[in-house]
Order: sequence, then structure tokens, then C-alpha cells
Amino acid sequence: MRFLVTAGPTRELIDPVRYISNRSSGKMGYAIAEVALEAGHEVILISGPVHLEPPRGAKLVSVSTSDEMFDAVHRDADSCDVCVLCAAVADYKPAKVSPVKIKKRAGNLSLELVPTRDILDSLGHRQHRQFLLVGFAAETNDVEQNAAQKLHAKNCDIMVANDARLGMESDENELMILFRDSEMRKISRAPKKNLARELVKIYSEFATKRLTKKM
Ligand code: C5P
Repeated sequence: MRFLVTAGPTRELIDPVRYISNRSSGKMGYAIAEVALEAGHEVILISGPVHLEPPRGAKLVSVSTSDEMFDAVHRDADSCDVCVLCAAVADYKPAKVSPVKIKKRAGNLSLELVPTRDILDSLGHRQHRQFLLVGFAAETNDVEQNAAQKLHAKNCDIMVANDARLGMESDENELMILFRDSEMRKISRAPKKNLARELVKIYSEFATKRLTKKM
């Protein structure tokens, strides 16, 4: 099968030397890419800026902004069987990017932010989508409720939820996997590589079922 995996944060430019971003390390997405390759799948890894060695054998597409990630994902999604959107895409970006460095002045500075495009939502609502679509939800509270709400709002097949405080920049995580038919599975705290093995198994089984149903 062919996997598309997004990983890491995005950077939303304020001016040529400043940006808005978040604490995502990219470790979960890179682990999923690595395990999918080990299982014999093809992998396109669309990655924001991270300090990780790309897994050997993956087609790496390096991006920086949410707009670049959006375009890269849309270029490759239709040629894939499974799309796993693990990246921590920024929810807002500056309304304008200053072409020159903003000078420091006395007093406060306000930045106007506008929403970024939601990549997962745009794939979920694509007509005649063939690929299995998996989203991630990093939450700090009401993890299951928020993730279930996202699963339906963004119209994906599987939503993997975790506690953002436990998983961010860490080597371990604890997951809750939500399916559209309200089934839910939990994987208790483990290294991200082990979690990735379980996830890739679930994705492959699910994608195979979808394919055989269509035949
Ligand atoms: O709404 P929230 O950002 O928590 O949803 C998380 C999921 O949505 C993740 O799978 C993330 O990759 C995806 N997402 C996206 N584009 C955005 C924001 C989130 O693909 N602009």
C-alpha cells in the first residue's frame, strides 16, 4: 500500500526572521512512516521543520508553512491508499507577512491572525475520496469527547487522540483510537515506535477491508 504521512509543526511567517509555531517534535509521524516502510509499504512523508533523520526509503517532502503543507498533501493524496495527518498544523497565521523585519518600538504590538486552511477537513470533505483518512487530536482536556467531535466534523475514518501534555516533544504517548461506528480502542503508555506498530496494523487492516468492499 501507499501511505502519505504528515509530521511536525508548521511555521507561519510574521516577517523574514520571525514566525508562529508550536512544540511538535514530529516523532509520532516519523515513527509511523518508519514502521510503514518496515512493513513493506511505500511512504510519502510530508514534514514540517524537525530535528529528525528521515526514515530511509521514504519520499520526503519538506515544507514550512501550512499553505505549503496543504499544497503538498493535495498533490499526492489521490495516489495513496492511506493518508495519516499527524502534523501539528498551526491554526492561525498572520494576516500579512511583513517583507522587512518589524522594528521594535515603545508600547504594545498587535498582530492580526487569520485561520489557516484545515488540511484534514479539506480531504475529509473531498468528493469520491478513495483513501483511508486518519486524523490526530492532541488535547489537553476532554480528550475523548473532543476527538469524537473532530472525527465527525472533519469526516475522517479514524481519529487518534492523545493527551497533548504527555505526547508533545516526548518519546512516549498513550492513545485512544476512535472509529466512525463509535468503536474505541485504547493503547496504554508506550514508546512512540511501539504505538506506531499498532497503528500501522490497524490502518492496513482497515484499508484492506475498504478495498475489498469496493471490489
Ligand atoms: O482541530 P485540530 O487542529 O486539533 O485537529 C487535528 C487534526 O487536524 C490533525 O490530524 C492535524 O494534522 C489536522 N489539521 C490539519 N490542518 C489544519 C489543522 C489541523 O490538517 N490547519
